[in-house]
Amino acid sequence: MVIVGNNLASSIYVRNKAKACSETGIYSEVHEFPESVSENEVLRRIQELNENTRIHGILVQLPLPRHFEDKRLIAAIAVEKDVDGFHLNNVGALVTGNAVFSPCTPYGVMRMLEKSGIQVEGQHAVVVGRSNIVGKPMALMWLEKGATVTICTSKTRDLTGYTRRADILVVATGKPRMITADLVKAGATVIDVGINRMPNGKLAGDVDFDSVKEKAGYITPVPGGVGPMTIAMLLYNTIEAARRAQAEALPRINVGNNT
Ligand code: NDP
Repeated sequence: MVIVGNNLASSIYVRNKAKACSETGIYSEVHEFPESVSENEVLRRIQELNENTRIHGILVQLPLPRHFEDKRLIAAIAVEKDVDGFHLNNVGALVTGNAVFSPCTPYGVMRMLEKSGIQVEGQHAVVVGRSNIVGKPMALMWLEKGATVTICTSKTRDLTGYTRRADILVVATGKPRMITADLVKAGATVIDVGINRMPNGKLAGDVDFDSVKEKAGYITPVPGGVGPMTIAMLLYNTIEAARRAQAEALPRINVGNNT
């Protein structure tokens, strides 16, 4: 994990990821840099990690300080170690339905739906938020499974008209408790990605859990819902990367006719 600057939320996320690695027996390193570090120095470190055969997965914790370009740092990660799935090659693979590493947060949502027996095919799935790390990849994963997909943004006219028709509603806006019961269809599956630190220090999601839980068929809490799933899928992608690297390293058995 590569982390630059002193964003408190990012430090907590990285600490939680490192803890999850140690609990599951995955070796991990945290490479911390002060905000004043040059982009080149961080790029050099990523290159070293690319070449380090002991490391199978690399992530750059976002957001980066303003003077950094996310794109340049993410593009520097070896595609086969990009366990966050943010490298352009991996994004392109996802668009064409051949995901190499799926971005962890929407991947975790898909896994929750699957394990809960909630059908995606043929459903109207709505995501509120169009970020590169949640909204857009979420929509692509649903499309691949045959859902009818709507992406809403802050510019959407009549947001309520869309959310109320959602069989599956994912909310990733960073606006605490903005989705109230009147915006939700009875029996819908409501998945709350938002993580907001409230003035009292507690965490709240983008969904008003107390009112929506009375109306939804399924609902995820914050904390404790999508957050842990995101970490679980990061570990999943990392193990997958290690497995692929090992398969690559195995001597190939020649099954052809040598005679
Ligand atoms: P971004 O800030 O990148 O994107 C927010 C999106 O929400 C934008 O597309 C924005 O629209 C849209 N939006 C904002 N306000 C409204 C509104 N009133 N109505 C409709 N759409 C709105 O956020 P992220 O996707 O990075 O994160 C969203 C939330 O999810 C945050 O709380 C973040 O902390 C959390 N998060 C949680 C993760 C987890 O593991 N659980 C992982 C990643 C994020 P527009 O584009 O028009 O501005």
